Amino acid sequence: MLTLHEAADGWLARVRLPGGRLTSQALGVLATVCEQHGNGLIDLTARANLQLRGLGTGAGTQLASCLAAAGLLPSVAHDRVRNVLASPLAGRGPRALDEIDAVVALLDERVCASEALHDLPGRFCFLVDDGSGAIREMGPDVTLAARGGGRFGVALDGRALEFEGDGAAAVDVAVRVAEAFVAARGDAWRLSETPGGAATVAAALGLALTPMTRAVRTPAIPPGAVQQRDGGVALTALAPLGQLWPALLRELARLGDDVRLSPRRTLTLVDLDAGRVDDTRAALTAAGLVLEDDSGWVGLTACAGAGACPRALADVRAAASARAATRRASDPPEHWAACERRCGEAPGTPVAVVCNADDDVEVRFDARTWSVPTLEQAAGRLTLEAAR
Ligand code: SF4
Repeated sequence: MLTLHEAADGWLARVRLPGGRLTSQALGVLATVCEQHGNGLIDLTARANLQLRGLGTGAGTQLASCLAAAGLLPSVAHDRVRNVLASPLAGRGPRALDEIDAVVALLDERVCASEALHDLPGRFCFLVDDGSGAIREMGPDVTLAARGGGRFGVALDGRALEFEGDGAAAVDVAVRVAEAFVAARGDAWRLSETPGGAATVAAALGLALTPMTRAVRTPAIPPGAVQQRDGGVALTALAPLGQLWPALLRELARLGDDVRLSPRRTLTLVDLDAGRVDDTRAALTAAGLVLEDDSGWVGLTACAGAGACPRALADVRAAASARAATRRASDPPEHWAACERRCGEAPGTPVAVVCNADDDVEVRFDARTWSVPTLEQAAGRLTLEAAR
């Protein structure tokens, strides 16, 4: 938020949202600053953060002061390091083992209180998992995972520490891990890049790691309603290409006071009364979100592409939109990128389309790859492979 990036459509600010959580007040403030200072486009990112696009050259200071007043900038020194992902239903879903909202809030508070963590790289990422395992394939550096009965474990780079404690104890370990990483990291951006890897950091804390467990891709977060364990209802909508805009944020603010964003480009309204679900579903559909769980948009993402990024070699968003019309929701997740940097591709995404500098398009489907001349032919290849 304090260090704007230059993009093809102006300056860009990233607003970090621990747990992907937004109140109706925060939604309203974001809508206003986007209208006043930006070009009206907001991206929902692969880290469940928001990017405000098309900002003017001098917008940074005013933006920061508006967002700080809305509680979205609790620490200037920690603006880039508050990367805390969380299970989107945060303990409410049928597969969850515990509630995690208080753990997310405490973790963010403890990160912001640590002077050593001023220097935590912006790519370092925490995940608070409610036990459902949702989004664990995002490859967090540190995972705090509910085990039920108020107990939590901690994993470093996918390997569990020999530790179990309550939420506060797990947060304490997670913060000490991050501080030990800062002390040991050298030039590393992520725990996996540290000399000696996660084991070095675990040893600095006097804790051992259990053997490596393979990361698995968890099921998609499908659009639609889910009965919460406490009797309420959570309603999830999907934002095609992660694209949001001010009127949509205002409509979300009108419909609920607790919205959860996920790296799968979904928005979930939690704690709805069952009697409000049909009206809320209709309003979200009318606002431009996808509520059908059989939509071709389920599992389909693309980078910013032409018009928004100066490195883009093609309009992958238009190509991905055409692909959404023919793709099945049950097809494996896929990501389209307009250059080899492959921004926004979640770890472990099995299908990818990437534009190369030498004017061809690489198509990957699981372990197989092809080189084709056009994006249209890339889409054709994917249709063929999915039908096999
Ligand atoms: S993948 Fe390339 S074109 Fe797409 S947003 Fe990243 S840098 Fe830009």
